[in-house]
Amino acid sequence: MRSFSYRTGASRISFGRGAFEQVPQVVEDCGAIRALVLSTEFQQPMAETAVGYLGGAAAGMFSGAVMHTPTDVTDTAVAYCESIGADSIVSVGGGSTTGLGKALAHRTGFPHIVVPTTYAGSEVTDILGQTEDGLKTTIRAGSILPTAVIYDPTLTDGLPLKMSIVSGLNAMAHAAEALYAQDRNPVSSMLAVEGFGAMKTGLGLIVEDERSIEGRDAALYGAWLCGTVLGQVGMALHHKICHTLGGSFNMPHAETHAVMLPHTIGFNAKSVPDLLAPIGDIFGKSPGVGLFGFAKELGSPTSLKELGLKEQDLDRAAEIAAANPYWNPRPIDQSGLRAMLQNAFDGAMPPDPNI
Ligand code: NAD
Repeated sequence: MRSFSYRTGASRISFGRGAFEQVPQVVEDCGAIRALVLSTEFQQPMAETAVGYLGGAAAGMFSGAVMHTPTDVTDTAVAYCESIGADSIVSVGGGSTTGLGKALAHRTGFPHIVVPTTYAGSEVTDILGQTEDGLKTTIRAGSILPTAVIYDPTLTDGLPLKMSIVSGLNAMAHAAEALYAQDRNPVSSMLAVEGFGAMKTGLGLIVEDERSIEGRDAALYGAWLCGTVLGQVGMALHHKICHTLGGSFNMPHAETHAVMLPHTIGFNAKSVPDLLAPIGDIFGKSPGVGLFGFAKELGSPTSLKELGLKEQDLDRAAEIAAANPYWNPRPIDQSGLRAMLQNAFDGAMPPDPNI
């Protein structure tokens, strides 16, 4: 067996339908008495529900979370947090709301309780991506890892189908890259396989019936595990290229992950077929081809073209993604990346490494 080191996340997890109601107890268990509840403007009604559950333990509500965690929004939220004498943060929403909660917790040192409503997985990582003057930077710190997470699948029952599909594929990307991570360990690989499989089952059921309880439960369970491995081990080509496309070409986060996943995993499968075999086994096909067919069956976007990327941007994207060297199981060269991006742009099936 390979040598490994393993670190466990410190977050406390509650999972189940109706678990949202436990928010006052979880806040109290974190030693807090005055929580600031965060959300996006759209999800303000969910934040109001949290305020209702919290009763006297609610200090206030801030519904200004937006994509990419701009630091000026964080500044406003910190000032509000101080003005109301809050001692803890409750984030109700997807990765954008969780990002704001992490930024606040990092600056204030307050306990942070997350109630996720998408499958992004940010709630179980110590990673914060934020933007200042249009520049996105990523930091990692113990103070960024949320203190507790309440997974209540009821809150995802109304997640629109299109968003559910791309968010679920975003989660599967964490698990897929965890399988070949340089710092992988037997536990992270086990979680990745379980999380990937649960999300595949969940998405399949959700596409048949958006409100499938079994499907929603499986998908959120899968999201937890996929997010957990994102926080535990290093990511490679797939996450780097999605970061490039999001940061430099303003491509939408989850949709870009959904489109790129079959291509990046197909690219790497050539070098690490054994490590990606669990994905091949789940689909009964080579990993890239299996993922491409699955995305198509779900009705996911499958081309960068339909997400609005311009074909003339492909050269620059390949250049940026190849410019900052990083570890990947298959050596990266600009022409290889360019060919992969063209395939993804056209929505063509990734090449089968077995043919
Ligand atoms: P999001 O949080 O931006 O949500 C997208 C939209 O969907 C928002 O308007 C939101 O209010 C709405 N929404 C969320 N849940 C809903 C629900 N259940 N029903 C109806 N509407 C709902 O999207 P996301 O994909 O969850 O998060 C993306 C962000 O998270 C990106 O900025 C990404 O960089 C970040 N992220 C960070 C990490 C990390 O570890 N740091 C991991 C994954 C994603």
